[in-house]
Amino acid sequence: MSTSYTVNGEENEAGLQQFPDSEEGNRQTGIQAWIEAEGYLRRSQRILAVTHLAPDGDAIGSMLAFGHAMQSLGKNVTVACQDSAHSRFDYLNGVHDIRRSGEGNFDLIVSIDASDLQRLGTIFLPVQHGRIPMVVFDHHITNTNFGSVNVVDSSASSSAEVIYRLLRRLDARINADIAAALLTGIITDTLAFRTSSTTPDTLAIAMELMRAGASLPDITRQALVLRSYDSIRFLASGIVASQLEDGIVYAAISRKLRKELGVKEDRGDAGLVGTLITSMEAKVAAVFVELSDGNIEIGLRSAPGYDVSQVAFEFGGGGHAAAAGCTLPGPLRDAVNRVLQRLRRMIREK
Ligand code: 5GP
Ligand code: MN
Repeated sequence: MSTSYTVNGEENEAGLQQFPDSEEGNRQTGIQAWIEAEGYLRRSQRILAVTHLAPDGDAIGSMLAFGHAMQSLGKNVTVACQDSAHSRFDYLNGVHDIRRSGEGNFDLIVSIDASDLQRLGTIFLPVQHGRIPMVVFDHHITNTNFGSVNVVDSSASSSAEVIYRLLRRLDARINADIAAALLTGIITDTLAFRTSSTTPDTLAIAMELMRAGASLPDITRQALVLRSYDSIRFLASGIVASQLEDGIVYAAISRKLRKELGVKEDRGDAGLVGTLITSMEAKVAAVFVELSDGNIEIGLRSAPGYDVSQVAFEFGGGGHAAAAGCTLPGPLRDAVNRVLQRLRRMIREK
């Protein structure tokens, strides 16, 4: 049986006053999914914890925190991801133990921060893993509930917030390593408490994590602020190449341009779409990056009142109202036209 719940914005408003580690803070809705998820965790001995490809700070931080905590509860845990973590996360204990393969003998799979099965990439091995129960922990509104049990809280700022609640429920001790990993997830997904997903609960949890030994300034600097000089040049070129049309600020980055700029990494937009949406004229921002394999990685952002999650979902991706993404086949020009057309309609129909 598959149990899921999603907490919507309205229900969240009722929960704002709640303290994060109280019973109340564990949300009334979907208690059944939590109980079932905990049951699976308690019964399992060999857990494979996985997160989405091209992992961000929330993916890495939530997965590592979960791994550390389960280990402390006596479980054998393997953490795995298709792609390696960015070197900016080297300060996280255990980051170098993340495996790049899902091979092994496991009795439970735990998927963290992935909104659909495709998002796990090559780490999910359909034949082997299809026979094992899977528990999903996530906060994306577009989650397809692909697990045996799905704890999906779209009112949570980050998957780290969901994992924090889990650890409280399991009475796991939050040591300094776990605190740093969880705060990394919160800081990266809320852009240091600046997104509309940031709630009083988010701040209260961050406070607890600081008390448990996580450094807010160090983590903010390492996980969010610092960037390579190459990526600053990439950002500058992307801004220059961008266009503003009908309330949409967008930039298309060809393989050629990336090569000229000497950008080594295949994925990511170096924060370009997040910069473009800071334009006062923008209702929506979109960045199209042509990857080495010819596919086009698309990042979307919206101003308050606009929702790009549905658009991304329709193109096979996902995310949140204010930040979403998808990948389309090339050529670059076709992907740009398809997405811009859909975004114009989204703005018109608002
Ligand atoms: P970003 O633009 O920072 O890579 O992603 C913004 C949000 O959209 C994140 O929550 C991320 O998980 C989601 N997202 C980005 N690309 C994809 C994708 O290809 N598929 C899905 N399901 N979600 C995506
Ligand atoms: Mn993520």
